[in-house]
Amino acid sequence: MKYLSEYRDGTLAAKLVERIKATSTKPARFMEICGTHTVAIFKHGIREVLPGHIQLISGPGCPVCVTATRDIDKAVKLARIPGVIVTTFGDMIRVPGSESSLKKEKSRGADVRMVYSTMDAVQIAKQNPEKKVVFLGIGFETTAPTVAASVVAAEAQGVNNFLVLSSHKLLPPAMDALLSGGDLDVSGFMCPGHVSVIIGAAPYQVVVDRFHKPCVIMGFEPLDILLGIAMLVDQIEAGEAKVEIQYRRAVKPEGNPVAMKILDKVFEPCDAPWRGLGMIPKSGLAFRKAYRAFDAEAFFDLDVADSPEPAGCSCGDILRGVKTPIDCALFRKLCNPENPVGPCMVSSEGTCAAYYRYSRA
Ligand code: SF4
Repeated sequence: MKYLSEYRDGTLAAKLVERIKATSTKPARFMEICGTHTVAIFKHGIREVLPGHIQLISGPGCPVCVTATRDIDKAVKLARIPGVIVTTFGDMIRVPGSESSLKKEKSRGADVRMVYSTMDAVQIAKQNPEKKVVFLGIGFETTAPTVAASVVAAEAQGVNNFLVLSSHKLLPPAMDALLSGGDLDVSGFMCPGHVSVIIGAAPYQVVVDRFHKPCVIMGFEPLDILLGIAMLVDQIEAGEAKVEIQYRRAVKPEGNPVAMKILDKVFEPCDAPWRGLGMIPKSGLAFRKAYRAFDAEAFFDLDVADSPEPAGCSCGDILRGVKTPIDCALFRKLCNPENPVGPCMVSSEGTCAAYYRYSRA
């Protein structure tokens, strides 16, 4: 398959592994901050072919996983309001809140619908003018521009019963917060390809300047990841820290200015709660004043109490890169994809789900 098989070439992969083994002399821990990387690393057995002194750890890159319990509780509260249709991407339906989930609310009669795009939610709003249709806006810089575009489209089409509950997250502030926390032992970052398609390379420069950690923006095929790791190794061996783009076929240094413009038109950065990381300044997206009519939080009373993580669940520590799922006493015992205790087991991009599916541990 064009554009796929050439990035899975076994001979080239073996050469990259040899290059890494030949050049890497220093112990290194690289964090992937994207759930798609987590899954790809497992699926292609990348860990197994690296020298033992190079470790790969997972970080807060799964949008469902980093959504705070409080935000799930808000979605549940919304679903219980008569006349509201809640629309969302698939994985969110199963994530447990403090005492319910959207799946449970749906089974009790709430109108919760899975959509494949934000424009589907606008369409549902058009078809149901007597109801309020709320889209749950989760995800990083990759999906947030599409949500902004749907808001602009709804405004242009006069769809005034479409609302968004914005729980979006911005990745670079989370990297900053992780490193500022002081308990993360990491040598460099495997930066997410699809987020970087939108934001470009510049936002990672802060990580390099403040913490002297190499950053390489990588694609998701095995050769992308191996070449990206080789580039990180080169920086470590040379004692350098800079932002590099391995995923050049998709990522431009300046990102996607059109997507950033529409994002900036509708939303502005705000402080946001992350599961496991707490409140991170300027890491979320709130509606700008001109678009507040689309803000579900401004329309409904969605105040909910702060709630702790599920008992025994280590999702917070896993998202901070200080534990792996194997360190969680519930892993494979009480917690599995059929009966997930925490969000890292729910999402297909969650670290616990990836360990469950692909790891022999
Ligand atoms: Fe939470 Fe389950 Fe992962 Fe443990 S295995 S951290 S309970 S999601």
